[in-house]
Amino acid sequence: IIKDLSHLEKREVLGHGNGGTVYKVYHKKTSSFYALKVLRLNENGFGIRQTAKLEADILKRVDSPYIVKCHAVFDSCNSNNDGDNGGDISFVMEYMEGGSLNDVLRIHHRLSEKVISVLGRRVLEGLRYLHGMNIVHRDIKPSNLLVNDKGEVKIADFGVSHVVEGRFEGNEYDAGTCAYMSPERIDPERWGGENVDEFAGDVWSMGVVMLECLLGYFPLIGAGQRPDWATLMCAICFAEKLEMPEKASPEFQNFVRRCLEKNWRKRATVLELLHHPFVS
Ligand code: ADP
Ligand code: MG
Repeated sequence: IIKDLSHLEKREVLGHGNGGTVYKVYHKKTSSFYALKVLRLNENGFGIRQTAKLEADILKRVDSPYIVKCHAVFDSCNSNNDGDNGGDISFVMEYMEGGSLNDVLRIHHRLSEKVISVLGRRVLEGLRYLHGMNIVHRDIKPSNLLVNDKGEVKIADFGVSHVVEGRFEGNEYDAGTCAYMSPERIDPERWGGENVDEFAGDVWSMGVVMLECLLGYFPLIGAGQRPDWATLMCAICFAEKLEMPEKASPEFQNFVRRCLEKNWRKRATVLELLHHPFVS
């Protein structure tokens, strides 16, 4: 539908992140809004370029109601002679009017179990789809789960995703926060072992997000804290007790505990969780 970037009018900034800015843009011909994610490549040369390409490759391949749709990818290096150390890559994506789950939590503070159950189901469906294509997301967190005006949640941001044993292995760059990372990713020597199932890391992250939605704050450390890396790492890898709202239903509690099983071998899989009473 969109043949040229110049057909898009920038309206406002929707978000900033690692190496990129996301704009709300207007497409006159179809009178509709899109989100435009622009990754600048001129800062750090090769590594960023690789990851941007990887993100583009993944986005072009995925097509699911549970994943934010990417309509087009533009690489400025293909159109002018910037060479390898310049230019940018732009993704034209479906516009998610409700913003991210972060924005939703900022407004509503916490969500009901009913809402979290619907949200959890959608994230699980999204993960089933991705994992079925051998894609590990690796950055499931509130700012990467977007909401549209129908209240539907979709997975976004494949900036650090990768394809397991695939062709698209790129360089990993700092995901910004490790707060949602699983024990086996934080400390592979202790929690990993042989043949770590990378998909299990996405399940862990989803569990953290769901508990955060019910509590209204990041669950692995006390409320209102902004911890340093060491505190966070200890909490993820060693904390025995899980902070759980008293009135949480047994179904919710069990679901989250199955996600936040430190040992990835014992953790529930996406397919198991899709049958869990909390989301079915
Ligand atoms: P980064 O890799 O920089 O984290 P994201 O793709 O996660 O980039 O986008 C950053 C932020 O921009 C998101 O947290 C969200 O607030 C906003 N955003 C991204 N994509 C969209 C979209 N399609 N619709 C609405 N807002 C979006
Ligand atoms: Mg993001």
